[in-house]
Amino acid sequence: MAAPSAPVPGPGILDIAPYVGGESTAAGVARPIRLASNESALGPSPKAVAAYRALADDIFRYPDGGAGELREAIGRYNGLDPARIVFGSGSDELIGLLIRSYAGVGTEVLYSRHGFLMYPIGAMSVGATPVAAPEHNLTADVDALLARVTDKTRIVFVANPNNPTGTYLSAEEMARLHAGLPPNVVLAIDAAYAEFVNRNDYEPGIALVNRAPNVVMLRTFSKIYALAGLRLGWAYCPSAIADVLNRVRGPFNVTAPALAAGVAAVADVAALARARAHNDRWLPWFSAQLAALDLTLTPSVGNFVLPQFPDDPKHNADAAFAFLHSRGILTRRMAGYGLPKHIRITIGTGEDMETVAAALAEFMAGA
Ligand code: PMP
Repeated sequence: MAAPSAPVPGPGILDIAPYVGGESTAAGVARPIRLASNESALGPSPKAVAAYRALADDIFRYPDGGAGELREAIGRYNGLDPARIVFGSGSDELIGLLIRSYAGVGTEVLYSRHGFLMYPIGAMSVGATPVAAPEHNLTADVDALLARVTDKTRIVFVANPNNPTGTYLSAEEMARLHAGLPPNVVLAIDAAYAEFVNRNDYEPGIALVNRAPNVVMLRTFSKIYALAGLRLGWAYCPSAIADVLNRVRGPFNVTAPALAAGVAAVADVAALARARAHNDRWLPWFSAQLAALDLTLTPSVGNFVLPQFPDDPKHNADAAFAFLHSRGILTRRMAGYGLPKHIRITIGTGEDMETVAAALAEFMAGA
């Protein structure tokens, strides 16, 4: 057989629809209202920014590849065994590392239909087959997930709460999902938005990781800590999985400024409390405004909402997105998630939310 005339990527890679991030600019608008990427409204802890800046003179040095100080800090503040924390350049990298380590050609990666897009993208990047389980009321459905487990399944990803739907599984439901999985399947609980949740029946995954050898919890500094630009995420793992991820990851996969800012951010519990209180105030306020406009809303426990728009072309989701865009308000279209009738709107500052609510009222009232 003749050799190919050009380099050929691995199986499945050219079938990947590239991830498209939220927009950050709007033509003709100097300072758009940016509600497209779920970054925390209040910005990072000033102490984290100071720690980042303080590192400027030292960037000629490699970072601490073992992330010792940050590992200890996260362990202390969350009551975790520091030895079982693995860091990544954002939790995106950790999703990829888990998939590279445990899945591959001929295997399946299971996720929930409207789950975060990096799960199917990561699966396809190693030639594995992404399998989507249907949801019920835009919420992960434990029975539907379990029904799709086969002897090829290697990882099940559940974002809890989920992006973009904002819905969550209770600790009890997550434990039921875990109980139904074979012991060789990794349950990856992606708790990127854990800090925003205030529900008594929610648990980010720590309890399950502590008692099961096949559960991993993913966390990020991109959301409530508002350090998305630094790229810093972590995984809390059983020892054997931490060992595997540490073999596969790059030795210096997290930058020194990210590590320094992370240490300061975890210690600034007052900033965390402020960000949480802000969401506790504006998420219900904005949700009520949308409901008053007769938009269908699934209750969100994250820092974003996912209103569903009517079908008529003047008031549908595409028209709403374009209307807001023309006002310099950036939101996220959801067709890529199989949700063409929805747009996702991040909870921004109080002023942002009042502006968006007023714009949407005008849009819905328009003939
Ligand atoms: N998981 C979920 C559910 C997310 O929404 C995001 C960010 N969009 C990520 C992971 C990745 O976040 P990061 O890589 O910035 O940590």
